[in-house]
Amino acid sequence: MLRFDLTDEQRKLKEEIRTYLDSHITPELLNELKENPDGGPLWSQYIKELGEDGWLGIGWPIEYGGQGRTPLEQYIFLEEIERTGVNIPFITLETVGPTLMKLGTEEQKNYFLPKILKGEVEIAVGYTEPQAGTDLASLQTRAVRDGDSYVINGQKVFTTNAHMADYIWLAARTDPDAPKHKGISIFLVPTSLPGFSVTPMNLIGERSNVSYYDNVRVPLSALVGEENKGWEYITTQLSLERLMLSTYSRMERMIEETITWASENEFDGARVIDQPGVRDSLAELTVEMEILRLLNYRAAWGHSNEKAAPYRPSMNKVFAAELNQKVFDTCMQVMGMFGQMETGSEWAVADGYAPEHAKKRLVYLFGGGANDVQRDLVARFGLGLPKS
Ligand SMILES: Cc1cc2nc3c(=O)[nH]c(=O)nc-3n(C[C@H](O)[C@H](O)[C@H](O)COP(=O)(O)OP(=O)(O)OC[C@H]3O[C@@H](n4cnc5c(N)ncnc54)[C@H](O)[C@@H]3O)c2cc1C
Repeated sequence: MLRFDLTDEQRKLKEEIRTYLDSHITPELLNELKENPDGGPLWSQYIKELGEDGWLGIGWPIEYGGQGRTPLEQYIFLEEIERTGVNIPFITLETVGPTLMKLGTEEQKNYFLPKILKGEVEIAVGYTEPQAGTDLASLQTRAVRDGDSYVINGQKVFTTNAHMADYIWLAARTDPDAPKHKGISIFLVPTSLPGFSVTPMNLIGERSNVSYYDNVRVPLSALVGEENKGWEYITTQLSLERLMLSTYSRMERMIEETITWASENEFDGARVIDQPGVRDSLAELTVEMEILRLLNYRAAWGHSNEKAAPYRPSMNKVFAAELNQKVFDTCMQVMGMFGQMETGSEWAVADGYAPEHAKKRLVYLFGGGANDVQRDLVARFGLGLPKS
């Protein structure tokens, strides 16, 4: 029978990770990130230490430098690290790495995977184009084989972290005559190559990039796995990204911060927490968050135990993205004007955790695939309904 909760050992591990992170996320590191959200030397040092101390690859095989535990332990690590609010190269570690492990060439696995676990390489994802977002298979960026290399031309939008990345996990069309899902390949493009450039796209609460490929010449070894199999690689990576986007721990922390604030502050002569409406709202959020927690454990467990349940990450992502809006909106309302005060204000609650993360998490409604389309996937693959 499936046990819908963590084992005692897993709970202990969760506590151990939290204690480790509490002692490594110093005020100096947080100050550095306030000054420079992309991170400076302290942040790089922190990522390297996480790698050296074996945390980054907790659920990865030992042969690549991991601890050989399961995806569920890797997910527990992800929850704890998310809770801190300090980013690590999430996309590289949680999505590109495992996809390479499954579908990359031996040479790519041996080169990239140990580096990822040591925090030595960052990889950004280059899928979206000005005319290909939700309808990703319409992408136009071209990779043309020329002797012992491919020559890449095109433009991507929303290439988040491309300005800091060592490589782009790039989707490009290699067979323009094939049906559109069948003529795409994935390349690992070094950002140091001539012809590659980025310009910033400033979004609400964070930076992304436009990335340009102007006759970028990559060796044949930059092709991930097999030519024209890119759609399978994209969907594998996106499925992992959807689970990654579904974490509950920032919401959990938000609710905890709100309960603390509401217990210490009064409105109209009574503690805010004693108002029935506030109690009802916080209780409802807590119940829904518990549902999300169990859905995520189920999906993480499924990665190593189920053959095909591709709708689970989609289902979790829809639920998590919408719950996230509800949690941050409700908590900010409970705290009134204080809830809107940003980092740096003397009136900010928990150093502006609420407004900072409320802004950043808006993207989850469509990032990793728009929720409307994810609902369609759940209907088709989860419920067996016909394609709409
Ligand atoms: C902060 C941020 C970071 C991002 N990072 C990356 C990244 O690193 N790499 C990358 O490649 N991309 C990235 N993206 C892009 C993201 O994946 C796309 O925004 C997303 O796929 C939607 O594409 P679009 O913006 O072109 O919207 P569109 O495809 O134009 O869709 C707009 C809206 O139309 C609706 N819609 C569209 N098609 C359908 C349909 N068939 N059925 C029902 N409704 C539909 C949906 O509601 C959707 O939200 C990022 C985006 C943001 C905002």
